[in-house]
Amino acid sequence: MTHALLDLAPLTAAHFASIERRVAALLGTEQDVIIMQGEALLPLEGCIRGGAHPGSTALNVVTGPYGQTFGNWLRDCGAHVVDLEVPFHTAVTAEQVEAALAAHPEIDFVSLVHAEAATGNTNPVAAIGEVVRAHGAVFMLDAVASVAAEPLLPDAWGVDLCVIGAQKAMGGPAGVSAVSVSERAWERIAANPAAPRGSYLSLLDWKQRWIDGGRKALLHAPAQLEMLALEACVERIESEGLDTVISRHARAAAATRAGALALGGGLTPYVHEVPDAAPVATTLRAPAGVDARDLVAKALATDASLPLVAGGGALAAEMIRVNHYGVDASRHVVRSSLAALGDALAGHGRAVDPEAALRAADESWK
Ligand SMILES: *Cc1c(COP(=O)(O)O)cnc(C)c1O
Repeated sequence: MTHALLDLAPLTAAHFASIERRVAALLGTEQDVIIMQGEALLPLEGCIRGGAHPGSTALNVVTGPYGQTFGNWLRDCGAHVVDLEVPFHTAVTAEQVEAALAAHPEIDFVSLVHAEAATGNTNPVAAIGEVVRAHGAVFMLDAVASVAAEPLLPDAWGVDLCVIGAQKAMGGPAGVSAVSVSERAWERIAANPAAPRGSYLSLLDWKQRWIDGGRKALLHAPAQLEMLALEACVERIESEGLDTVISRHARAAAATRAGALALGGGLTPYVHEVPDAAPVATTLRAPAGVDARDLVAKALATDASLPLVAGGGALAAEMIRVNHYGVDASRHVVRSSLAALGDALAGHGRAVDPEAALRAADESWK
């Protein structure tokens, strides 16, 4: 055990504020950024409970399991919820969002997931933001799986509430998260009598006691280890360059997709169209008759450090995820993952061409 993790001095308010500024810079946002002391589901729930109330109507875009969770919270808040669900192997289009808004002019809140690590798809937020802005609704975006994996421009895209976590492409800690909040969103939350106040879920508490007070006094003892890890993680991204980190994730996804197609054996990309495929994780469909969990277990038996995981819930038997989180977005990890999947498929009696897979991945990586 390392005792370097113990007996730390408390993190000062100034230090906390400086980490917030660096996260804001990473998001390129001029809005207020608050770091929340919990995994990203904390600010996501805080945003929904702050923005939704009986009498409000929310458009909840469902492109994967997180969208389903948001719908449940929205309904729990008493909001009327219009669910716009698309098959998880695709992305939603701005036209679909526009049509839903036109059919329900009373919509005043829109929740959307940018990229879904669980299903491997990503949505065109810039175009969607335009139609949401034209309609005038408050726009919440779950960018946990997109930050540092693909371009994320909350201000330019008109995102009012942008939630990130560090545990995916940022390669950082899971125990803290952040949300940027626009002036419009603050007005909406402040005017909502049902918004959490005096609560761990409250964004408003942070506005009133932390931001409006000049970021001098924290609400409670900060999670130092997580904050220091977040600072280290942002520092590492700054030194590599955010654009370089993003392009590394794009290449890892493209190379994995190309390699899987060349591998054969019945492995196919789960997300049909390339523009809909998220750079944070490549999801693959196991061949008919092969259980994805067996395939992943076999692949991990050769190298347990590979970022391979079977799909969650209903997708467990058919989906294989190759995660490209942080340092795993590398040519080496992509090649090793393809080789291990090739071995596992061969073990199931499938005809595969591992050399072609590696060639295709290398070619794509260039
Ligand atoms: C990973 C992820 C989160 C965070 O949730 P965990 O299940 O705790 O990792 C939230 N939203 C999206 C879209 C994610 O991919």
